[in-house]
Amino acid sequence: MTSLDPRAPLVLDTRELGRRPGSQREVTLTVPAPADLGIDVLGVAEGAPVELDLRLEAVMEGVLVTGTATADLEGECARCLDPIVDQVDVRFQELFVYGDSRDSRGRPTDNAGHDDGDEDDGVSTMEDDLLDLEPLLRDAVVLALPFQPLCEDDCPGLCTECGANLKEDPDHTHEAPIDPRWASLTTIETTQNDPSN
Ligand SMILES: [Zn+2]
Ligand SMILES: [Zn+2]
Repeated sequence: MTSLDPRAPLVLDTRELGRRPGSQREVTLTVPAPADLGIDVLGVAEGAPVELDLRLEAVMEGVLVTGTATADLEGECARCLDPIVDQVDVRFQELFVYGDSRDSRGRPTDNAGHDDGDEDDGVSTMEDDLLDLEPLLRDAVVLALPFQPLCEDDCPGLCTECGANLKEDPDHTHEAPIDPRWASLTTIETTQNDPSN
């Protein structure tokens, strides 16, 4: 685990917030999207602006971050491969616990050993006064995306025989299968079923 870079766009410095429980700060900022913010077929282009609207609240154990993120999405329809232009608007909340000796309960804390499981229960660990929003943002965006993005709800997809876009050419038909791939599949099947083998 390397230390957080305070200059990274998604690393927030909470020093101004202070550690008195109850103190709050509203933060609005626009950051360039990190790489791979999304899923294979739909996501925020790397470097595209992500608008963040955050409320930081000091609590006993750390800093509670509540906020929204808005960004433009780019991708392609899972059925017809047409480009999709959409927007993602997600809400998230995460408790970032103090990861240093100033732990309010006086527990011994271990800065070096970050627990890999601590993202699953909505709790992350701060490094000194820094917290990293990137995993939180990534999880929120990925969860908000459809498994199968479609250009429109009833996209008819592509013709299974010739690949034509049926949205643009809904009435086209074929008299007989023409895809050579089907022809070769038929040949293989015939060979395997030959009883003389
Ligand atoms: Zn489509
Ligand atoms: Zn066709």
